[in-house]
Amino acid sequence: MRLTHTLAPTLKETPAEAQIVSHRLMLRAGLVRQTAAGIYAWLPLGLRVLRNIERIVREEQDAIGAQEMLMPTIQSADLWRLSGRYEAYGPEMLRIRDRHDREMLYGPTNEEMITDLFRQSVKSYRELPQMLYHIQWKFRDEVRPRFGVMRGREFLMKDAYSFDLDYPGAVVSYRRMMLAYMRTFRRLGLKAIPMEAESGPIGGNLSHEFIILAPTGESQVWYDAAFERMDFSAAAISHESATDLERFFVDMTTHYAATDEKHDEASWARVADKREGRGIEVGHIFYFGTKYSAPLGLAVAGQDGAPTALHMGSYGIGVSRLVGALIEAFHDDAGILWPDAVAPFPAAILNLKVGDAACDRVCDDIYAKLAGNALYDDRGERAGVKFADADLMGHPWQIVVGPRGAAAGIVELKRRSTGERHELGIDAALARIG
Ligand code: ATP
Ligand code: MG
Repeated sequence: MRLTHTLAPTLKETPAEAQIVSHRLMLRAGLVRQTAAGIYAWLPLGLRVLRNIERIVREEQDAIGAQEMLMPTIQSADLWRLSGRYEAYGPEMLRIRDRHDREMLYGPTNEEMITDLFRQSVKSYRELPQMLYHIQWKFRDEVRPRFGVMRGREFLMKDAYSFDLDYPGAVVSYRRMMLAYMRTFRRLGLKAIPMEAESGPIGGNLSHEFIILAPTGESQVWYDAAFERMDFSAAAISHESATDLERFFVDMTTHYAATDEKHDEASWARVADKREGRGIEVGHIFYFGTKYSAPLGLAVAGQDGAPTALHMGSYGIGVSRLVGALIEAFHDDAGILWPDAVAPFPAAILNLKVGDAACDRVCDDIYAKLAGNALYDDRGERAGVKFADADLMGHPWQIVVGPRGAAAGIVELKRRSTGERHELGIDAALARIG
């Protein structure tokens, strides 16, 4: 992308409404703009990050055999009456009437809809287990939308749903999904800690929140460093093996991890390798048995032919919240430090003297060799402005092209995260970027 023809409105001043660093940087780097309270437009660079996160989330869901689908954002109120949640959800639900005066809503989540869809077509235990997911916008009319995309009203979520014939099967699905979560957060470059969450009023429920570590996170977290050393790769743990999954789950849940509310000094004293940090919730998984299948009539013929209500789980990841959370985890005073896996582009090309024949030629050459997969700063701005904007936007590499070097075929390659700089020939620089 050529910056002269890109909608990436960077700001020098700190926007007054932004209280936390990720919100400030997302506005300053031109990633998003608010269009109404808690509702954001994703500008081109912000959208590229969102898509990169989505891709990693999707690949790890696919890898454990979850099937991607897409449910609509607008739902009918009828199903929500069957589960009792139409009334229970309260003012967080955005209620809409269509021209025929039918009650509709903008989905805050999809348990009712997926349960009904599954009920319509799955009839036998032979078709189980199954997991389905989609990545779709949600609306929750939060009392206090704040912190930019971290707590929006409209936000992008990956929500998955599992269907099993019995409790032991559902536990396997739950553990498999937990493993996919740990792999997902690792690939995003994040340290994620699963925490046992309130299991609600129905016995036998299971629930974990996933907290990622970021210096500016909302809650204090105490945890065992063993989490950081665990190997979640397919070579270490097979998601096909119930034994592997059990070993993984027991390892995860016996290591100490707690937030403020549940921290317990006596247990903490016994942890050998203590770590403390700040955390942000980016995912939440639940097993809730027949909470939706029973009222919505989702039962299949079991092995003995008798109708059996299915055991379900649901599994959320805050995809748009992750954009903010990643910035909370990776930034410095000058701007964002995108991990390679999610950066809008791998590199920015800084032409320090637009109009200088050698600079223009070298930049065009590099841009072509990267097949346009770079942000080319071709503006007629001062070098200082370009350096500041490149640091602010946080592409992992900066290729700096000045008139003296360009004449000799030399560029300066800077690694944004470490500040390391090297003078290199064009091909050597491109080889480093990979
Ligand atoms: P919270 O306690 O933060 O309100 P929740 O328990 O309501 O979260 P879930 O219903 O479990 O959230 O949704 C799954 C994930 O969706 C959360 O872990 C979070 O990452 C994300 N999420 C929830 N609400 C919002 C929001 N208002 N804005 C952005 N992301 C959100
Ligand atoms: Mg909430």
